[in-house]
Amino acid sequence: MKKLKKIFLVSSVALMHGNITAQSGNFKTKNPYYSKTETSKLKVSNEEWKKILKPELYLVAREAATETAFTGKFYEFDQKGTYFCAVCGNALFLSTSKFATTCGWPSFYEPIRKTSVIYKKDTSHNMERTEVLCGRCDSHLGHIFDDGPAPTGKRFCMNSVCLDFVPVAKK
Ligand code: FE
Repeated sequence: MKKLKKIFLVSSVALMHGNITAQSGNFKTKNPYYSKTETSKLKVSNEEWKKILKPELYLVAREAATETAFTGKFYEFDQKGTYFCAVCGNALFLSTSKFATTCGWPSFYEPIRKTSVIYKKDTSHNMERTEVLCGRCDSHLGHIFDDGPAPTGKRFCMNSVCLDFVPVAKK
């Protein structure tokens, strides 16, 4: 029984450690809100996020900055897997909905679930656009446009810095 307990403890610590190291590039400190399974809505102030998120992620996700076109790590990237919110771990897009564009940012034609993202009218920079936010933590992800491919005709134009990618496990 004691041995079993020890094995369980060691394996759960290894699991936790794996999860932390995989995401730590985005965070200054441990992110207690990050979860790939929890879907309940988060209400966390920007003051708090500023303590947790690295500046490059904070600026885009919490202050709606846009990363420079053609520079994001997922722009020319076509591995199979799942994209999650880099701030909170919410599942956002499957690689099967990603399509090649020349716009300079990774683009998808649909989210994983309808509730994965939420939408907000954005009139900044003298433009009328629709902003796409994470459905769990309200972080800015990018914008949605009507020039995407079938079947939806939508283009979810995302900032790479706001995405975490987990590849499909190799068999
Ligand atoms: Fe999120």
